[in-house]
Amino acid sequence: MREVSFRGDGFELPLLQSDVIPAGFRHGFTTRLGGVSEGVFASLNLGGRWGDDPARLAENQRRFRAATGSEAVHFATQVHGRAVAAVSAGDVPAATAGRQADALVAAQAGTCVGVYVADCVPIVVADARTGACAAVHAGWRGTVAGVLGETLAHLVATCGARVEDLRVAIGPSIGPCCFEVGPEVVAAVEESDPGARAEGAIVAKAPRDHVDLWVLNQRQALSFGVPPAAVDVARLCTSCDPTRFFSYRRDHGKTGQMAAFISCFVSPVISPAISPVISYPGAGGP
Ligand SMILES: [Zn+2]
Repeated sequence: MREVSFRGDGFELPLLQSDVIPAGFRHGFTTRLGGVSEGVFASLNLGGRWGDDPARLAENQRRFRAATGSEAVHFATQVHGRAVAAVSAGDVPAATAGRQADALVAAQAGTCVGVYVADCVPIVVADARTGACAAVHAGWRGTVAGVLGETLAHLVATCGARVEDLRVAIGPSIGPCCFEVGPEVVAAVEESDPGARAEGAIVAKAPRDHVDLWVLNQRQALSFGVPPAAVDVARLCTSCDPTRFFSYRRDHGKTGQMAAFISCFVSPVISPAISPVISYPGAGGP
């Protein structure tokens, strides 16, 4: 993933972008940089539920909307499940916010969908042929529930996507270095993905195992049939980098929220080419 800087009216907002997402889409993963919040919310906190100053939050959201290029960015109420909700051009964000879903799909040009994260895995998906796209929120529960696979299935069944045209970018989240879990999480992972341990998604460590959510979601995309070169994993751990990222676990819940977004602003998107081809190291942590 590359870092770009969006320059707006009196501010600069860094965004991480993936080379597998075609140019006809506008997308990005925010970091904690580029906003006006202070203290544990410094500086680009985009979440309104954890006690940040409303005026600062509003300015952060204004900057974020500017960076997305969309006046209306749709977010659902995220519930750590596998439900996928479709957003249409005529929908209003307030209505979308009232829907419980961990993935939002948009199939009309200009419709922007997003997810909030602070350790959970943000994933954006683009269908290079039809221009449909999706934003996915996958913590361990959503990952185990198969929310990414559900999203890809929705894109194929409802938007006419072909698996070979799908592009999947897996953004910064808590990594296998820091995601220590209890035996109940390990059991749930192994039940949902029997190959998880052999493929390095469960890392044996004392006193407790660690789980690699990046590998699990990568495996979900590959098992669905997405070409390996079309799945990009940022491999950036939110917990390891307090300068760039909020982390719910590292900061014991006293933290802000980042966002990922994607919209298709060209319709139809014509080029299904992947450029450049991304390789990834596979299992294991940094
Ligand atoms: Zn880490």
